[in-house]
Amino acid sequence: MATPTISKDKRVLSMSRGAAPVARIQPGTTIHLQTADCFADQVQGPDDADRGLDWDSVNPATGPIYVEGAKPGDVLAVYIEHIEVADHGVMCTGGGWGVLGDRIDKLSWRFLTVWDREAQWEGGPSFPIQPMIGVIGVAPAGEDVPCGSPGHHGGNMDTRLIAEGATIYLPVAVPGALLAAGDLHAAMGDGEVAVTGVEVAGTLTLEVGLRTDIALTDPVLENDDLVATIASAETLDEAARMATNAMADLLNTRLGIQLADAVMLMSAVGNTQICQMVDPLRTVRFEMPKSVYEPTYGRLI
Ligand code: CA
Ligand code: ZN
Repeated sequence: MATPTISKDKRVLSMSRGAAPVARIQPGTTIHLQTADCFADQVQGPDDADRGLDWDSVNPATGPIYVEGAKPGDVLAVYIEHIEVADHGVMCTGGGWGVLGDRIDKLSWRFLTVWDREAQWEGGPSFPIQPMIGVIGVAPAGEDVPCGSPGHHGGNMDTRLIAEGATIYLPVAVPGALLAAGDLHAAMGDGEVAVTGVEVAGTLTLEVGLRTDIALTDPVLENDDLVATIASAETLDEAARMATNAMADLLNTRLGIQLADAVMLMSAVGNTQICQMVDPLRTVRFEMPKSVYEPTYGRLI
């Protein structure tokens, strides 16, 4: 069967249990998702920026996709096979936005070209791209969550590790899960201090799996090197507390490591990292290197 492609006009602005699915797939299906950038592709150059944009249509996510058989309590395992990014990207920052918003009074834009795995800052440095997904999530059980916010359902986690070769595990809260994704970045540093990464349109290739043997309350990421618990909260402190607890619980319940030992092992080799500190909730991850625990205890997830 041909790989289904979902076009970027099939988009939502919030993750909602009431959203009508744009496709239905069986677990294990690989899909292509075309995605608009976080400005809904409205700003392609300085003229567009000067003209202004419709801020009510920003932060779109392509979807939602109904995964047959997924039910509350299951976990969606989304393997990121490929992230193709457009040949140009845009950044902006402004008054009240991001970490330094109190020192910046007007909206500033920058346009970058992306080629040959490099992003070129106009009239400035170039740097290697590290394509990643800003927004990926499922519908929450309760109230709708705008795509600009992260949460238990995933959403706007703006986490650098949500990249090619990683699997993001999302707790399913409604029948069919209702997966949606967008907001690709050609590059972004931990923290996303300006409130934007190198925002790009693109195409995702995702293999959407379903796990019924694990239970999660918040997203977990796995790549070749590590497993990371991801949590979002009003403050970085609270998000860090949640991510740390989630990792301790995983080590305890999945691998049978006593809590005190789990915490000491985490303290010895685990890293608490800021994902982003600029969205409506802040996001923190706790990373555990597989090379340390896997040979002794086995797979964590
Ligand atoms: Ca974002
Ligand atoms: Zn973004």
